[in-house]
Amino acid sequence: MTAIQKSGEYKELCIVCEEEKELGIHLNTSFLCVECEKTMLSVEPSEPLYRYFIEKLRKIKSVQIFS
Ligand SMILES: [Zn+2]
Repeated sequence: MTAIQKSGEYKELCIVCEEEKELGIHLNTSFLCVECEKTMLSVEPSEPLYRYFIEKLRKIKSVQIFS
């Protein structure tokens, strides 16, 4: 038997920063933490970081499979 969940502590791996966080949003089957969500919303399209986020988010869509 596997019991990964501890008392009220449930962390998921963020697809952008690749760290385990408790708070965040789900995009399809992927998880995006609140910090990265905020960063993504505040970053300017001219910044290199913006492209980094786009690349990460593109991966989510490519994984999405409907049959
Ligand atoms: Zn993150």
